[in-house]
Amino acid sequence: MAPLLEVRGLRVTFSGYRGESRVLAGVDLEVGAGEQVGLVGETGCGKSVAMKAILGLLPSPPARVEGEVRFRGRALGPEELRALRGREITMIFQDPMTSLNPVFTIGQQLHDVILRGRKVPPRAAAARARAILREVRLPDPDRVLRAYPFQLSGGMRQRVLIAMALVNEPDLVIADEPGTALDVTIQAQILLLLRDLVERQGISVLLISHNLGVVRQVTRRVCVMYAGTIVEVAPTAALFRTPRHPYTQGLLAAVPKLTGEGVPAGIEGMIPDYVAPPPGCRFAPRCPYAMAVCDTPPPAIPVGPTHQAACWLYSSEAVLASGQAHGHGR
Ligand code: SF4
Repeated sequence: MAPLLEVRGLRVTFSGYRGESRVLAGVDLEVGAGEQVGLVGETGCGKSVAMKAILGLLPSPPARVEGEVRFRGRALGPEELRALRGREITMIFQDPMTSLNPVFTIGQQLHDVILRGRKVPPRAAAARARAILREVRLPDPDRVLRAYPFQLSGGMRQRVLIAMALVNEPDLVIADEPGTALDVTIQAQILLLLRDLVERQGISVLLISHNLGVVRQVTRRVCVMYAGTIVEVAPTAALFRTPRHPYTQGLLAAVPKLTGEGVPAGIEGMIPDYVAPPPGCRFAPRCPYAMAVCDTPPPAIPVGPTHQAACWLYSSEAVLASGQAHGHGR
């Protein structure tokens, strides 16, 4: 069966005064029906650009988008994407204050979303609005419906955004760093709520985050992104147990342990300049294992039944052919 969302060879290039900035260099990813998938990577790696490109939200020009986005096996053009957005595919953005309209009440905004998704009489829309606010565990839904966004706390506004994303029972929710603007305890509550609701309703999720802990809590499978490329894909538990790509290993080594064991180590160097990225593996200038063959982009290589790493270390022929590491990086 075709995955619910399938992205193949997604490339995004921005034209600027310095030249062409090749931000996404051929991203492949898929989300199955009822599956929760994380897209994780450091700030500036292209995660949000990927989300906007998938949703057809990048302005062209300056962006040039190439590749294919298929939903339920059907290739989507800009018109079809627009028709699906807000109904079958919904979004949760990271900042609840800028995602809500300050001059309308929550009730007006929620009714608007409901009526855009389905033809229902006003009384049914009001009942549905109250019910979804209860589902996201907002006390006193009638008071929330009458409130303007500024009258609610950050955590309540984030719950309202989750309500808006789920109210029309979509097939797929794309969530970009939800709760990042909140303190960590409230963020954890929001993420657990999101996980419970989507699991109960069988909704697929693509969760975009720079935070490995967040992705570990909410998803079943993770795609790790580095500088506009997917470098590793694995079931969440396997990724945390045995990360195979040198970048993922570095990311996990940078997370402090609750037990206090070991000293967290950062990854030296910076994300490459997208105007002149390395010709092959984009991680090569920071990789302690870089070798001659890394000047060619590595393919995704299976390292387990459902685990892949885009790294020449796992292609034994390539390693043998290239001889010893030639001393890039640390
Ligand atoms: Fe990239 Fe080569 Fe390092 Fe693998 S060994 S991450 S291909 S530079």
